[in-house]
This record gives sequence, structure tokens and C-alpha cells, in this order.
Amino acid sequence: MTINHHPDITTLMAFSAGTLDEPYAAVVATHLAMSEGGRESLRQINAIGGALLNDEPEAELSNGALDRLLDSLGDEDDRITVTEPAAAQARAADALPLPLQRYIPGGLESVRWKWTGPGVATADLAWGKDGRSRLMLLRVAGGRRVPEHGHGGQELTLILQGAYKDRFGVFAKGDIADHDEDVEHQPIAEPGEDCICLVAVDAKLTFQGRLMRALQPLFGI
Ligand code: ZN
Repeated sequence: MTINHHPDITTLMAFSAGTLDEPYAAVVATHLAMSEGGRESLRQINAIGGALLNDEPEAELSNGALDRLLDSLGDEDDRITVTEPAAAQARAADALPLPLQRYIPGGLESVRWKWTGPGVATADLAWGKDGRSRLMLLRVAGGRRVPEHGHGGQELTLILQGAYKDRFGVFAKGDIADHDEDVEHQPIAEPGEDCICLVAVDAKLTFQGRLMRALQPLFGI
């Protein structure tokens, strides 16, 4: 798996500092479980933080703890070879990266999707402490588009399956799109399989079209 798109450095720094709200932290942790490059970036950020706190012995300790956590996440492929192969693969949840399994213990098969628009479905997984940010799954059928929208806050999207394309390029499995409130875009799922994403959003998405704006309260998105 080649991962081309990673979280912004500010997002990784907030994750490293433990200040990200749960929905965002869950997306970053899941991305890191899928991406050795992402884990290396976080190690570097943490090393810089450790150097800044050079005189503090606690910083050394937390560096080691973070390294162990990152090592334990492992790559998906590594994880499957480490666990009992046959038994592990038999369980649907084990197909998911480790940090995601606590939100979807029954695996993707067990998700109860909510119709959100033609070819588009969502499922809420968790809410942030402030009650505004939320973690959800987004499923877009191959070749279908998500209506053009802006963001009321940061939108962090991790591709779990399939791929989509927008004006920023193609985003495939393991890639992250990290957008702030200034971004407007219209993702289109690549033809073929469904594109399934793990998404953290803050506040509501703002749709551009009049019809979508009228329908938004019904969809609850
Ligand atoms: Zn968006």
C-alpha cells in the first residue's frame, strides 16, 4: 500500500500533545496504524518536542512510551502475521486497523448505514467532548459524488476502502485528507468498489446547492 497523503503537521503535533478531540485522534491513530511513514513523522515530531524539553526527565519517559505504542500498532500486514492467522482473519473486525476495532467491534459488515443521499450513506461512531465534533463512516458508491460542500471546521478523512478523487488529487486506502474551514470540494468515488472513509468533522458541513441546503436538515449532516 502506497500512502501519498498524510495529516497536516499541526494535526500531528496536536495528536502528539494529546490535545486532539476524540474523533480526530481516532482518525489519526487509525491512519498511523496503516502507515509506517505517518508513524515516522510522529516520531520526529515527538523527538523535537523531547529536545525542547531536554532538561525534563519525564519527556524521555514519554518518548519511550510513545515509541512502544507506535510499535505496537504495527502495519496491518504485520499484525495479521503476528496473530494466529486463520482465527484472526475469520473475525470480520480483525480486518480493521486496531484503533478502529473498538468503535466497530463487529467489523464493517455490522455497520448500520443511514441513507444520506443518492449513493451516499453515513454511520455515526462517536462524539467529541464538546458535542459538536463527531466520528463517522462515509460510504460513497463507486462513480457517485458527495455533494459539493464547505466545512464549518476541520474535516479529517481517512480512506479505509476504495478511492475518491477531488481537486486535490486521488485519495486511496490509508490516505488522509486534512481540510480546514476554508476548503470547498466535491469528492467523487472512483469507479468500481464503494469508497468507505473514516471522517472526523467539527460542526456541520455546508452544502453549496440550494436543493442540498434544503435537504440538509433531513439528512442530519
Ligand atoms: Zn469535505
